[in-house]
Amino acid sequence: MLKDKLNIDGCLKCSYCNTVCPVLKVRPDYPGPKKLGSDIERFRREGLSFGEDWVDYCLGCGQCSLVCPNQVGVSEYIAEAKAHQEKNGIKKIRDYVFARPALLGKMSTMTAPVSNSVFKMATALMPIGGITSHRTFPSYASKALRGSVVSKQETDQRKQILLFPGCFIKYNDPSLGETAIKILERAGYLVEIAQTGCCGLPAIADKKESLTDAKNNLLAMEDSVTRGSRVVTLCTSCGYTLKSKYTKLFPDNDRLGKLADMIASNTYDLGELMVELLEEGKLKLPMNTPPLKLAYHTPCHLKAQGIGRPWFKVLKSIPGLEVVDLDAGCCGMSGTYGFRQEKYDISMKIGENLFKAINENIPNQVVTECATCRMQIEHGTKFKALHPVEVFAQILSR
Ligand code: SF4
Ligand code: SF4
Repeated sequence: MLKDKLNIDGCLKCSYCNTVCPVLKVRPDYPGPKKLGSDIERFRREGLSFGEDWVDYCLGCGQCSLVCPNQVGVSEYIAEAKAHQEKNGIKKIRDYVFARPALLGKMSTMTAPVSNSVFKMATALMPIGGITSHRTFPSYASKALRGSVVSKQETDQRKQILLFPGCFIKYNDPSLGETAIKILERAGYLVEIAQTGCCGLPAIADKKESLTDAKNNLLAMEDSVTRGSRVVTLCTSCGYTLKSKYTKLFPDNDRLGKLADMIASNTYDLGELMVELLEEGKLKLPMNTPPLKLAYHTPCHLKAQGIGRPWFKVLKSIPGLEVVDLDAGCCGMSGTYGFRQEKYDISMKIGENLFKAINENIPNQVVTECATCRMQIEHGTKFKALHPVEVFAQILSR
């Protein structure tokens, strides 16, 4: 059933998927999505091995699946192949931890700021664990995201929002979540923070864990979504997972399959909601914005949602703002990919176009929705990067 949904026989061999693959652009020896997609699945079904060493180099950006004219689940087949990979030694331990950001977040938040000092001091030793010493872990907040919770008796269902916080906002940057809540409340919404865990995307190569994450999250959101709440995400990877991944995970479980479909069709990126308000004339835009040049980067997982660039549209509507579309491709970070020692150089090479575009534009501020894109931009340039809602809130408060 899963395989049918991914259309294994639909490949036309047109190579369009190869033309958009960020890894193939910097590593011509990478077999590319055309070969690693449905081909690898066919080999595996015959008990043969093909390209297994390479699947780990896929960023999981989803661009190959997005452009495929025949809707072949190219990146999904590669993810399936990753899940079947045997890992040993230190990589196995590292990948186990990286697949569980909620566990790491919970422990690090409980022990912050000590945990932050320990991570900083241990940076030089990270290569022992297969992690690059060129980067530092983002610091953890000492309190996870908490906020207003809507009453279950509330009757105005249409205006209720269930905020899916995701691990980064919950444990590393709760103030970003609080900013979004303030903006949503200002626009008349009642916001409930979902009692969910990791979206499961980091555990894509750990099938059991990603299924557990997905199942727990679906059940945790069922009640609110059934009552009419819309699910809103600020993280493009969480949004991509809720909209496109959960629906393919439970082919043999009717209840979870239907719940996944319901949640997918009720999930929105915060920017989508802002555009909706803008188009309905309900979004109060700041009028006296001092001249400010913003450089906007589109995250791959926003592109993969097929919703355009809603925040770009909102920011462009603000008088006084100059918003440059960087249009420079993938940043190369892809969650923890850029933290892996063996992938660091590829990650930075992929990001070169973006770094160059930012440096050439000399903006006052870089904006992008994805937290790990922001990390990569700050690592590869001297510019700071913010989520668009932070810039929007800053302008409003002037
Ligand atoms: S874009 Fe789709 S149809 Fe074309 S080669 Fe890739 S998987 Fe096959
Ligand atoms: S998911 Fe991204 S990195 Fe992986 S094969 Fe497809 S385009 Fe390339």
